[in-house]
Amino acid sequence: MLHPHLCRLLPLIDLHTHTDASDGRLSPAELVHAAGEAGVDVLAITDHDTIAGVLAAPRAGRTPAIVTGVEFSTTWNGIGVHVLGLNIDTASDAIAAGTAFQRTARERRAVRIGERLARAGIPDAFDRTSALAANGNVSRVHFAQFLVEAGYVKDRAQAFKRYLGAGKAGDVRDTWAALPLIIGWIRDAGGSPVLAHPMKYRLTRTKRTALVDDFAAAGGTAMEIVSGRQDAAQTRALADLCTSRNLLASAGSDFHRPGEPWARLGMPLALPRECRPVWDAW
Ligand code: AMP
Ligand code: MN
Ligand code: MN
Ligand code: MN
Repeated sequence: MLHPHLCRLLPLIDLHTHTDASDGRLSPAELVHAAGEAGVDVLAITDHDTIAGVLAAPRAGRTPAIVTGVEFSTTWNGIGVHVLGLNIDTASDAIAAGTAFQRTARERRAVRIGERLARAGIPDAFDRTSALAANGNVSRVHFAQFLVEAGYVKDRAQAFKRYLGAGKAGDVRDTWAALPLIIGWIRDAGGSPVLAHPMKYRLTRTKRTALVDDFAAAGGTAMEIVSGRQDAAQTRALADLCTSRNLLASAGSDFHRPGEPWARLGMPLALPRECRPVWDAW
């Protein structure tokens, strides 16, 4: 049996994090610095639908090593689903085309969310939210920030519960590229398509299995087994599903900002023993 202290010799690999290029709080340089301080050895930067954050990340220091990444938004059977592209060639035509497509989709969606909030009695949401997303990459987190600052809700959680979450006025899902198209971009860029946080979708066990099967049939090669806000039984169930489908496994905190203990830099992210890590293929 391994002495507990030997565990510290295993590299800490976090393959899911955000910067302020999407809905994270930290700049790319701040994220890399904070990850290094937290003991992360390998860090993937996976902003929503953009590579601006990972391109701006400093590479000069020794740790953490940076893995290129992106988290694409899509829909599956009417449910919002996220697909990570890890170890992608950020200079590839496929990623340029994919992020351009998604940027237009995100802009179109932001306009529609604004229209729908206006009908719900909240005027000017689009203009005031766009001003909060400095680089124009408007997310629902920015809409939530506007709703809090304008006094419509008390915090971000309430903003999602009342206005932005599944089935609410600001829940507009039909603008994203389809799942097979997204997987194609990632593969064409030499990357690994990873189904992000499969336990975060409101799906029955049967439907979740169907999602994984569709994802694999479309060329997806890995799924995220370890993620923040997930209990041991859920990790166990995902590991079983992953090995039964012969998929590779990934792990990431989904860090967005300091102060959220369920998704913090440096949190333990070890994969169950029987999982084949996605990075084995790199
Ligand atoms: P978007 O990419 O614009 O669809 O925004 C989705 C992001 O909103 C997710 O990546 C989370 O960071 C955040 N989010 C989703 N649901 C919630 C929630 N219930 N409370 C707080 N943040 C959420
Ligand atoms: Mn996010
Ligand atoms: Mn996600
Ligand atoms: Mn994420």
